[in-house]
Amino acid sequence: MAYPDYMKELIKKVADTRNKRVEDSRQGISFPRLSLEAGEELLKKYHPDYRENAKRALAVGKNRGDRIPNELADILESYGHLDPVLFSPGEPDFSTDVLVIGGGGAGSTAALFAASEGARVLLVTKLRHGDANTMMAEGGIQAADKPADSPSAHFIDTMGGGHFTNSPGLVSALVADAPGIISWLEQLGVMFDKEEDGTMLTLHGGGTSKKRMHSAGDMTGAEIMRTLRDEIRNTKGIDVVEFSPAVELLLDEAGRCAGAVLKNLETGRILTVRSRTVIIATGGMGRLHLQGFPTTNHYGATADGIVLAYRAGAEFVFLDATQFHPTGVVYPEQNIGLLITEKVRGAGAQLLNIRGEQFVYPLEPRDIESSAIIRECSDHCSGIKTPTERYGVWLDSPMIEALKGKGFVEKNFPAKFRQFMRYGIDISKEPMLIYPTLHYQNGGMKITPDGETSVPNLFVAGEAAGGVHGRNRLMGNSLLDICVFGRRAGIAAAQMAGGSVAGSPGLHHLEKYYKELEERGILKGKGPVSPVLLPDYAGKIG
Ligand SMILES: Cc1cc2nc3c(=O)[nH]c(=O)nc-3n(C[C@H](O)[C@H](O)[C@H](O)COP(=O)(O)OP(=O)(O)OC[C@H]3O[C@@H](n4cnc5c(N)ncnc54)[C@H](O)[C@@H]3O)c2cc1C
Repeated sequence: MAYPDYMKELIKKVADTRNKRVEDSRQGISFPRLSLEAGEELLKKYHPDYRENAKRALAVGKNRGDRIPNELADILESYGHLDPVLFSPGEPDFSTDVLVIGGGGAGSTAALFAASEGARVLLVTKLRHGDANTMMAEGGIQAADKPADSPSAHFIDTMGGGHFTNSPGLVSALVADAPGIISWLEQLGVMFDKEEDGTMLTLHGGGTSKKRMHSAGDMTGAEIMRTLRDEIRNTKGIDVVEFSPAVELLLDEAGRCAGAVLKNLETGRILTVRSRTVIIATGGMGRLHLQGFPTTNHYGATADGIVLAYRAGAEFVFLDATQFHPTGVVYPEQNIGLLITEKVRGAGAQLLNIRGEQFVYPLEPRDIESSAIIRECSDHCSGIKTPTERYGVWLDSPMIEALKGKGFVEKNFPAKFRQFMRYGIDISKEPMLIYPTLHYQNGGMKITPDGETSVPNLFVAGEAAGGVHGRNRLMGNSLLDICVFGRRAGIAAAQMAGGSVAGSPGLHHLEKYYKELEERGILKGKGPVSPVLLPDYAGKIG
């Protein structure tokens, strides 16, 4: 839908202030950054994570008492697809050394490195291999591999972005491995953007002190996922099973992870996998739509791995910390929630209110930036109302062309350009209307730098893990995290598989978990069946 006339009138105010803003930008004059104290104040007042009624204390399990989002508590305080008393694993349908659950970037990287250690690997995934948040990533991947940069600077930026709540050991691993990961991806065939002289093009992201974002247009994730998937197809020792989500983990009598139970989505058949070690790489939870927020996430992002591991007794950190990306589309309706990469602001686009005025430095960390937008649209009454009564602020993409020349937007943001053109909006000439969208799960399973969890023989990599980013992730650090910790978990799980002798796999842990639910008065049949596997939108649209 092209912008209606009243919005076109408002867009004139953006154009009115543009020349002055471009001039300031050329002279290095920017909207002032917030002090640490002012940022904290803004977060407390406006960030959705701080809304107390959006959370409750978890009633069961290792993290009992932790306040977490209601929607996540609902699926953790619930019963699963299997009855542990009636279920018997019997003869396994598959037997392997390393079972990888999840076919996104973390799972694929883990599978490749586990196979490189000589392990037999089975990768099972919910939809098609590559239907994943990784595929949708846009802006880029961070690594300090330029002479003027250093892993130490990357370390400080990452810790600062996470408000110094990150696990320093995990961040050290992240930044130290980063340059090697970029070389590995390039050797596999990822086509990164380059300068004229053939060196890597690197850009700024929010909260970074140096230009260290490596990209492939605005489709960096698709380029990485394409390459990893191809590599898996061409690697001996890795089998892939699609459309078969894991619905429960199997543990032996000693509490060691020994496989998983899958449910084939096409036939409904229950399948069992016996394995020496297991790596969970099931990604995030955007499709739980916390507080009713739209999301950038892919259809299968329903926190399944969290449910499975929690029932198995794994410990979690920062489950209450979610990331709202500041720039999600609000108009046209068909694009609601869709991500507009931070790279757009990195290239010079500014955020403006209904009067065409700036109200925040455009590259604050995401939580601060989101809070400023929410404030503008609520208390300051300076948001722009859409025909369906949503609110947003302008992201002045035409400013990029004023700074960098005609054609820059289409060339550098081809996916976004097309997504808006489909509805008659040319983002090189008209700004985009945006509002924060549910984007990323900052917390997850507690891990060691090798991806080990508190459950023996169970590893985790990627968005399902917690601690690397503390309470807030910086842009470009997740594509990095999935490769760094995918690699580490893959190698460690393969090595452990070599010496591991698991007993008989079963669902004793589930019996125990259900008993705890009953003791807290949570009875079967009351809440959702989890893992939910796919979001249920029936009757909720319109
Ligand atoms: C639109 C968008 C843009 C982004 N842009 C960037 C960016 O520019 N830079 C950056 O660093 N990060 C970015 N991110 C974040 C980053 O892409 C993700 O955090 C990261 O790719 C997650 O990788 P993952 O492998 O952990 O999870 P995913 O890539 O989501 O993979 C998880 C896989 O597990 C499967 N799965 C789920 N449940 C089950 C189950 N029960 N059984 C079996 N399989 C299951 C899923 O189907 C999926 O295949 C972006 C995210 C989104 C959504």
